[in-house]
Amino acid sequence: MSETPVRVRFAPSPTGKLHVGGARTAIYNWAFARANHGTFILRIDDTDPERSTEENTQIILRAMRWLGLDWDEGPEVGGDFGPYKQTERAQMYRDAAQRLWDEGKAYPCFCTPEQLAADREAAQARKDPFQGYQRRCRDLDPEEARARIAAGEPYVLRIKVPEDRGDVVVRDAVHGEVTFNARELDDFVIFRSDGTPTYNFATVVDDAAMQISHVIRGDDHLSNTPRQVIVYEALGAPVPTFAHISMILGADGKKLSKRHGATNVEEYRDAGYLSDAFVNYLALLGWSLDGETTIVPRDVLAREFSLDHVSKNPATFDPKKLDWIQAEYIRSMSDADFADKIMLPELVEAGLVGEGAEFDEAWVDALAAIVKPRTKMPADVVGVCAPVFATADTLEYDEKSVAKGLAKEGMGAVLDAAREALEALPAEDWTPTAIDAALEALPEQLDVKKRLVFQAVRVAVCGNLVSPPLGETMALVGRADCLPRLERARAMAL
Ligand code: GLU
Repeated sequence: MSETPVRVRFAPSPTGKLHVGGARTAIYNWAFARANHGTFILRIDDTDPERSTEENTQIILRAMRWLGLDWDEGPEVGGDFGPYKQTERAQMYRDAAQRLWDEGKAYPCFCTPEQLAADREAAQARKDPFQGYQRRCRDLDPEEARARIAAGEPYVLRIKVPEDRGDVVVRDAVHGEVTFNARELDDFVIFRSDGTPTYNFATVVDDAAMQISHVIRGDDHLSNTPRQVIVYEALGAPVPTFAHISMILGADGKKLSKRHGATNVEEYRDAGYLSDAFVNYLALLGWSLDGETTIVPRDVLAREFSLDHVSKNPATFDPKKLDWIQAEYIRSMSDADFADKIMLPELVEAGLVGEGAEFDEAWVDALAAIVKPRTKMPADVVGVCAPVFATADTLEYDEKSVAKGLAKEGMGAVLDAAREALEALPAEDWTPTAIDAALEALPEQLDVKKRLVFQAVRVAVCGNLVSPPLGETMALVGRADCLPRLERARAMAL
């Protein structure tokens, strides 16, 4: 581990909701901080006033909380390096720019957009390999510059890329050494004529002031990095370690977008994905524990995450793998946990259960035990539970199941015999085992195939052929409601 304390930041721009790519960047920063006993900072990069909104900021904070990515410094929690919104840090950018200007490391440029365009065209015409800013204002007499500013002429502030800078080598923890030619960097703008800082400037002022040790972000920012290195050097601040993570692609190899389906974190939350499963899945998009393990719980991720296991190849978003991981997380929950966190909330939401309704714990556990293996997404719960929460009057019969299991010659006799056998069971014996045993005796007694007997009773009691194990379901429905269901179904049987 390095000696400087690990301080990392996730710096979303609130120009939209939290995208899965942003969420993965946040997860890597969080996990890296946790694995290195460092500090995870959330900073809101809201310098684009036209596209940033407070509403998006709130959506991002909510998504971060849902993902369980607790931040040590940032909005709502504070910290020693705040404020944590760029719009509240304007004075710091002005001070830093003024300092560079005073030190001769930045200068005002008065070139108009027309002048810049003409210079570019001329460079193209003479086939100059460098077509960037021609440094017209770099050596303006400071007196003249002051006079023009005093006269109200608009200007931007440009950084002086040192003449002798040579190549800028970015040492990236994912991409290795990436070399950029300093001459091609231009004397780029650090402050616009409207008095706002550019991204490359504000980000570095903040990252330096917040003592960020590692910048982990999407590799769409790799090309900005040499410019940022120049700013660090001008400010006299140590350059952090960079780690640029690959893009996320859709199945067709194109950058993940709406065309591929849901791309915002909240859409996954609303669809019923578990936060733990979703974080596990996103963590694997470009990182692996050992090249094969698929289930990496949050605590393992927070302990084992390392940048050496981050791949520089683009990752492909695979909804099937996400679903598989989700099913694994549900399967590994205890019945009680499943009941509390998934089943009961779903039932309340569907109106099958009243808020705060009291249930016998054993009854809830028995229900959870048969519902859990049949649940891939929380919304599945309602369908699986419907027969249990129906009554003999409200139970809905699936037409196809009735045709297949009930409306057949001989099934009337099966239901009569089933009712008789079940009526003989006293209420205190109304258990899955006793119910199954009572039904088991029927095939021989009636000389009807066992499958047909069970099908008929299943459709009569549950309304369909796909419900959970019959004895268990009937025990949960209760004797008082099972017998009337058999009676009601009798009319449909032949
Ligand atoms: N606000 C920038 C973005 O959302 C941050 C980039 C960075 O991490 O430097 O892309």
